Amino acid sequence: MEITFIGAAREVTGSCHLLHVNGYTILLDCGMFQGKRSESAEKNKALPVPIPDIDAVVLSHAHIDHSGRLPFLIANGYSKTIWATAATRDLCAVMLADSAHIQEKDAEFLVRRKKEFVEPLYGMRHAVRTMELMVGLPYNKPFDVVPGVRGTYVDAGHILGSASVILDCTEGDITKRLVFSGDIGRSGLAIIRDPVSPPDADAVIMESTYGNRDHESVDGARAHLADVIRKTAARGGRILIPAFAVGRTQEMLYSLHSLLREGAIPSLPVYVDSPLAIDTTTVFQMHPETFDQSEDMVKRVKELFEFPLLKFTRDVEESKAINAARGPMIVIAASGMMEAGRILHHLANGASDPRNTILIVGFQAEHTLGRRIVERQPMLKIFGDEVPLRAQVEVINGYSAHADRTELNTWIDKVKAASPRLGPIWLVHGEPEVQDEYMASLTARGYSVTCPEPHSRVSF
Ligand SMILES: [Zn+2]
Ligand SMILES: [Zn+2]
Repeated sequence: MEITFIGAAREVTGSCHLLHVNGYTILLDCGMFQGKRSESAEKNKALPVPIPDIDAVVLSHAHIDHSGRLPFLIANGYSKTIWATAATRDLCAVMLADSAHIQEKDAEFLVRRKKEFVEPLYGMRHAVRTMELMVGLPYNKPFDVVPGVRGTYVDAGHILGSASVILDCTEGDITKRLVFSGDIGRSGLAIIRDPVSPPDADAVIMESTYGNRDHESVDGARAHLADVIRKTAARGGRILIPAFAVGRTQEMLYSLHSLLREGAIPSLPVYVDSPLAIDTTTVFQMHPETFDQSEDMVKRVKELFEFPLLKFTRDVEESKAINAARGPMIVIAASGMMEAGRILHHLANGASDPRNTILIVGFQAEHTLGRRIVERQPMLKIFGDEVPLRAQVEVINGYSAHADRTELNTWIDKVKAASPRLGPIWLVHGEPEVQDEYMASLTARGYSVTCPEPHSRVSF
C-alpha cells in the first residue's frame, strides 16, 4: 500500500494524493492550485496521473482547493465514480459551475490580451458531467471505493459537508486503516457540528494549515466583530468583508444575526454581494441535518440567514448601486483572498477612505492581494490601478474554519489514544515553515511525522 503526494504537499492549495492499494489507484481530492498566477496555472494544467490509471476519486469537501480540478479530470476523459458527502455534492454543483465560468472568462481575457488561443482548464459542460459522476453519501455509512478499499466519511466540522475519510485498505490478508483528515474544523464554529475524531488508524494524512499558532476563541471573535462594526459605523464608514462564498459568508451572517438579536451592533444595511454566496446559502438551507442542534439559534430561529436590512444582490446593476449608496454599511463579497470577484470593485472604491474598515476573516495565502492588505502595504494594485490603502485593516482569526495548533493536537491525540499501532503521520496542507514547526512539536511528543515533498511516494 502506497501513497503519492501530488498537491498540498509543502503548500496549502491543490490538495491531491494518490492512494495505491490492491493494484488500484484512488485520488484523494483533486483541488485547484491557487496563489502566484503563472506558477499555479502550470501546476493546474498537469494531470496528477494518466486518466486511465485512476479507478476512483474520494473527495473530502467542496472547497475549490480540494475539488476545483475535478472537471479537469473529466475534460481529459475521466468517467468513473467520484465519492463525496451529500452536502459536498450539492455545494460542488454550484461551486464547480462557478469555477468553470471563471476558467472560461480567464481564457477569454488571455485571448484578448495575448491575441492567441488559450484553452480554458475546463468548461461548463465538464462541471455538469462531474456532477453526473459524483455520488453523495451520508456520514458514518461505509462504502466500497474499489475492491479492497472501504471508505467511511466522518464529520470534519470545517465547512458544510466536510469530512475526514477513513480508508480500510486490504491487500491479501493484510488490512490497514489510513485516515485522511481533509481540512479539520474547529469546535464551536457556528451552524456546523464540531469535528469528529476518527477511530484507530495505522497511518494518517493530516492537514497542518495552522500547526504553529492558536486562534482567538470563537467568542472572542464575535466580540471583536461587534467592536469593529460599532467603531466603523460611528466613523460613518463601510465594513468590507472579503469572504469565501461557502462557509465564511454564512458564518458571518449567522454572527451578525445573533449580534443584532442581542442588540450588540447597530442595525446597518448588510449586503451579500455575490451570486455564488447566494446559491451556497441556499445549499445550507437544504442541509439542516448537518447543523449543530446544540446551538441556541439553530434550535430557535427558523430562518438563520434572514434579518432586517439584509440584502442579497445577485445582478450587476444592484451590485454597482451599493457603491453609490451612502452611510455606514456592511458588504460581504467574494473572493476570500481578494484575487477575483466583486470584492475587488468594493476595494477599488473603498480602500483609500480612512473611515472604512477592511475586515479580514479568512486565511490569506502568499502572493495574494489579501496577504498584501494583511501586511498593510501602503499601495495596492487593483484592476491594474494603484490604490492607496488608507482604510483600517482588522484581522479576526477566530473565524477560521481550520483547527489551530491546540485543536490539531486534540484531534491527533484522540486518534493516537484509540490506536495501538499508529504508524506514520504525513503532514500536508501547510506552508513549509509552519509544517516544519508543527512536525518538530509532534515529533517531540512522540509521533512519527514527515512532511512529504510533492511527487514523493511512501508506503505503509
Ligand atoms: Zn477547506
Ligand atoms: Zn483546504
